[in-house]
Amino acid sequence: MPIVLFDVDSTLLTTGGAGKSALLRSLAQVYGPVEPPPGYSLAGKTDPGVLTEVLVAAGVKDRRAHELVERALWVYPTILEEELAQAGTTQPCPGVPALLAALSETPEVELGVFTGNLRAGTLTKLRAAGLDGFAWRWFACADGLPDKTQVLARGLTEMRAERPGLQAGQVLVVGDAEGDVQSGKRHGTRVLGAATGALSPAELLALGADHAVNDLSDTAGLLRWILSAPTPYVRWSSPA
Ligand SMILES: [Mg+2]
Repeated sequence: MPIVLFDVDSTLLTTGGAGKSALLRSLAQVYGPVEPPPGYSLAGKTDPGVLTEVLVAAGVKDRRAHELVERALWVYPTILEEELAQAGTTQPCPGVPALLAALSETPEVELGVFTGNLRAGTLTKLRAAGLDGFAWRWFACADGLPDKTQVLARGLTEMRAERPGLQAGQVLVVGDAEGDVQSGKRHGTRVLGAATGALSPAELLALGADHAVNDLSDTAGLLRWILSAPTPYVRWSSPA
């Protein structure tokens, strides 16, 4: 039974910058206006990690930054809902609704997210993109964790609690960023790179993705690739 875990931002959907605005507004509310350093990228990072890095870069000491991040994340879900509603720019990435529909109807697949978003923010974004109605079963979200690798570790632990014997190789991570690929490789999952963020398919493959596509619009081809993976419970649990 493959478990397919999708990254959210720039893999399932884009918010047109509203997600980033909401994070910065949350910081502004508890600390004051602050801008990320020039060229700073949120891709493949967690909300707690991003807020901490932005504050530390602005000269805030670690312990104080930790307190401020806790407070910012407390107000963030409400601000995110406002920002997404105001901007009206959230939309699914190409092919995503059709692929999710096909996977939801495939009995041997379980769907989940693996994201740097908080769980509340994940649900808000999925709703705003019209993607909340699919058969979501697993939520590996970043509540309380600064690093995406830790998010996947906790998610796998939760999955194994309910699916004893689950091998990491039976889990597929779909993502657009270096942090997604690295987390998957670190924990032994398969990785599908979607070049709907900043990286090209070649760059995603060079980072270690098992397969990479321009976007997720080839529903039939992707389904075939996902399901033709090494046989669950047999080859997936063997050393490569
Ligand atoms: Mg992403």
